[in-house]
Amino acid sequence: MQIAGLNNQRVRQHNRRTIMALIWRYKRLSKSQLAQHTGLSIPAVSKILDELVADNKLAHSSENLSTRGMNSGHYQIPDEGPLILCMNVSPTSIESQLIDGRMSPLGDFNWTDVNARTPEALLQAIEGLWQQQRKRWPGQRINLALGIHGQVDTATGVSQIMPQAPWKKPIEIKYLLEEKLGITVMVDNDCVMLALAEKWQNPANRDDFCVINVDYGIGSSFVINGQVYRGTLNGSGQIGHTIFDRDGVACACGRYGCLETVASLSALKKQARLWLKSQPGSLSLDPDTLTSLQLLDAWRQGDVNIQRWADEAANAIGLTLYNLLNVLNINQIWFYGRSCTFGERWLQTINRQIGFTPFDQGDAVRNRQTEIAFGGLTRQQQIIGIGYLFVEDALEAG
Ligand SMILES: [Zn+2]
Repeated sequence: MQIAGLNNQRVRQHNRRTIMALIWRYKRLSKSQLAQHTGLSIPAVSKILDELVADNKLAHSSENLSTRGMNSGHYQIPDEGPLILCMNVSPTSIESQLIDGRMSPLGDFNWTDVNARTPEALLQAIEGLWQQQRKRWPGQRINLALGIHGQVDTATGVSQIMPQAPWKKPIEIKYLLEEKLGITVMVDNDCVMLALAEKWQNPANRDDFCVINVDYGIGSSFVINGQVYRGTLNGSGQIGHTIFDRDGVACACGRYGCLETVASLSALKKQARLWLKSQPGSLSLDPDTLTSLQLLDAWRQGDVNIQRWADEAANAIGLTLYNLLNVLNINQIWFYGRSCTFGERWLQTINRQIGFTPFDQGDAVRNRQTEIAFGGLTRQQQIIGIGYLFVEDALEAG
């Protein structure tokens, strides 16, 4: 193994990247703020900033961020570069938000009903939304950033498995859309979208954290040392398919008793449906048309069965997380997805299962205690998360 030393060139590259990453995160910072964040001297920061401005990577504005005393203005990403249309894509719906080159939203957040029966219909729906934006912003290049439900090969931009879709074949989403629209398309999994959203838009995050999406299925994404961990087979974060009950029911993945078969919203729906069929007329719900929303409503109205199932689901998630926390020692977890509607009681049940991890010293001062909470980003911020694929790509390229 060759161990490379850091020569001046590489230190310079590293410092440039650190400064760019800080500006992407905080949108605009003054020279002294950058010196504070990086631990570099003002002259060292000045030199790098001058270079970045000369390279057109940063723009300087003399507008003061502070009302106190003398100020040398602030630095931000130049107000140019292509727009990005961010989308969260599932076979049933597409959520979208247009953003500018500084990652700030342009126009409204959109939710579109899709119900695609074929891959072609889904691609058409994506293209339709893109065409709408192009009419609104004539002459502007609009790239696409897609957070896609299911398993995605990020390198090739192929959607491999979309569990909710009626089709079972892979779709070359990136290739097909790039060829047709003549733009750059970046794709990743919808849980990675949430991880990127948290990483770039929540300054309270630690270097190691994870997001867990408990919705139709259960997905997760891990950020380790500040980087999304994808794994070589793009299978990282399949917490929903860790086995919870070896004698449990069959899962879509081909195994039995996966966490998803016990604790996801679709599992709860299945349980409710079976129960409703055995108790005709006992609830005002129709087992054949039961939706997740109805399920959540019944829970809110105090349906004891649904509350019991939700508790069981929370217990299963808690126990799985307990194992995970002990293996990885990642102690900051954000929950997203519609199951969060189950609220504090659900979260407390999960927390009770985790109890305490033996390695948690409860060191709040050094920010080392376990923190498990509902994610606080808005849906718009969550969707914008996928746009940061472009930022990370640019940082990587230097
Ligand atoms: Zn499974």
